[in-house]
Amino acid sequence: LTFEVTILGASAALPALGRFPTCQILNVNHRYYMIDCGEGAQIQAARFGIKLSRIHSIFISHLHGDHYLGLIGLLGTLSLQGRKRALYLYAPADLADILAAHRKSGGLYLSFELIFKATNTEAPEVLAEDDLLTIYTFPLRHRIPCAGFRFEEKRRGYTLRKDAPLQALSIQQKLALKRGEDIVLEGKTRAFTEFTEPLKKLRTYAYCSDTIFDISLLSELNNVDLLYHEATFTQEYLTRAQETMHTTALQAALLAKEAQVGKLLIGHYSSRYNNLEVLLAEAQGVFPPTALAIEGETFKV
Ligand SMILES: [Zn+2]
Repeated sequence: LTFEVTILGASAALPALGRFPTCQILNVNHRYYMIDCGEGAQIQAARFGIKLSRIHSIFISHLHGDHYLGLIGLLGTLSLQGRKRALYLYAPADLADILAAHRKSGGLYLSFELIFKATNTEAPEVLAEDDLLTIYTFPLRHRIPCAGFRFEEKRRGYTLRKDAPLQALSIQQKLALKRGEDIVLEGKTRAFTEFTEPLKKLRTYAYCSDTIFDISLLSELNNVDLLYHEATFTQEYLTRAQETMHTTALQAALLAKEAQVGKLLIGHYSSRYNNLEVLLAEAQGVFPPTALAIEGETFKV
């Protein structure tokens, strides 16, 4: 099953030549979950071959422009494309007012049902669930209400082993095996484990942008396979990071190390960094399995 993240934008608010503000596509079994939607998200999607029609839901962390200003244009495009399938949208409650203003004053018309759910920016909770994922949200400490997200793969039953004697089985028996039930074959009870692959570890992806360094996030991030955490500044600008409620690369790495995550992805780079290697080096000094979120790159979870 595909479970990977493609970066469409990884820059902070001020324009940086060659970089776009935050937007990611989490692809799970070719269903797309968009995370934040900065300006230029549509252009970036086109550039990297991301089909907008595959977007199933959109998650907006907070209402600073660099995290959602691509959204209204994207919704308009989906309508122009004649989308009929409902779209799920999760964001802080005030986004409802912003959408209403565009409907009233900008003639924003949607050809599909937009199912909006406000995120809880005060306490962790289960935000959404479908057949592939359970999605959790948790508060981030930023200048305005902000939430992070954790996407957890759901157990979808057992996979049949290719080398098992499957020809002799009925469809009902195969379905029972996939549910983890033993079957009766030629009068004998046979354990489902004879026919199925061992269970794989369920994969998790967590997303934290924007936030001040917050050790209390550990409980939300423990053991995730891939953690995206903002690293707007290097430690040299720690004071600036604290004033603007952002994190340094060193701090992001400390959190990743403490949470024992599999891999750390950093992003939300300040426009002052032309060369991102300085951020990467700082983080890797503490937590070697760190990578830069680079636009157009895909990271397997
Ligand atoms: Zn922000």
